[in-house]
Amino acid sequence: MTYERDNIKELKAYVPGEQPDSGEFIKLNTNENPYPPAPEVQKTLAEFDANNLRRYPQPTSSKFREIAADLHKVGSENIIATRGGDELIRLAITTFVDPGKTVAMTEPTYSLYLTIARIQNCEILQVKLEDDWSLPENFADECNRNAARLTMVVNPHAPSGALLTQETIESLCNSIDGVLLVDEAYVDFIDPKDKYNAIPLIEKYDNLLILRTLSKGYSLAGLRFGYGIGHNDLVNPMLEKTRDSYNLDGISQKIAESAIKNQSYAQDNWDKVREQRQRLEGELSDLGLSVFPSQTNFLLVSVPEKISLNAPGLYQKLKEKGILVRYFNEPGLKDKLRISIGTEIENTSLIETLKLLLGK
Ligand SMILES: *Cc1c(COP(=O)(O)O)cnc(C)c1O
Repeated sequence: MTYERDNIKELKAYVPGEQPDSGEFIKLNTNENPYPPAPEVQKTLAEFDANNLRRYPQPTSSKFREIAADLHKVGSENIIATRGGDELIRLAITTFVDPGKTVAMTEPTYSLYLTIARIQNCEILQVKLEDDWSLPENFADECNRNAARLTMVVNPHAPSGALLTQETIESLCNSIDGVLLVDEAYVDFIDPKDKYNAIPLIEKYDNLLILRTLSKGYSLAGLRFGYGIGHNDLVNPMLEKTRDSYNLDGISQKIAESAIKNQSYAQDNWDKVREQRQRLEGELSDLGLSVFPSQTNFLLVSVPEKISLNAPGLYQKLKEKGILVRYFNEPGLKDKLRISIGTEIENTSLIETLKLLLGK
């Protein structure tokens, strides 16, 4: 006997990257930040008084939202704090898309979008990206033709690392009829010389919702804290109506506040990641792998046919050697591996192990 709704019965569960309990692996499979959170985060945790837990937390994370608003030069009414970026995806779909209506996205994309859209029993439109991971010219037209209520793009893109320019995002805001969610989970790792900043667009476009997370840039994947930035008319229904009444606990709010207050610590880590990204890009190419240019904390790597192991084979061999990377058995990705940027030492181990496996 099952009591599930039909769409839930048919739903294939979202598959997260492996999280082994033991520390025996070099973990380059889930795009976690390889550096620890800011020392102030540790201090905040140590000083937290358990007696505070007697009371309910501040319901809308108002202090965090004020700090984030200052940082991004918007009003706190433009910010909603969420249980990871993932909660914002769920709120966007359940707030803006009726069951049976269409959610649009690229292919490939962050696979959680599909899972949450199916839970809401939405139609799904996936538009295939070009071979260089850019958007096809007819992307917005396709979304509009299918009357998409919500369109989601990851920028910089996962799992390729490719960046759409700010001009492209603005033209999407203009041409897309429904809500546009720009998932900026990896925005902190963009090269500053690209001068990408989509946030000012929220003043001009009432359909733009930007997703941010502390999981990657602030080394806090275990905390579960993210936020959305958008026009007040877009943020308000989620903030006041569809969010769980106390979606973020008091400990999380305090930690998140101290993490984003410490911008210079976080920025130093982003610099280190960019430096190691450039290094790995060069060294992986030297080993005969083709590496896509990336503006994130991971590299998507194609395993050419002339190499003795295919992508799943290489994934398996690396795992046997204690290094976890990510393999997606999905269209367009079957010959590729996604490798998160580790610390300098971890990256050296990766390269040395690959040399061994590839006989170089
Ligand atoms: C990590 C990630 C998120 C958000 O993750 P949370 O840990 O829930 O904040 C959203 N989109 C993409 C593409 C991601 O990789």
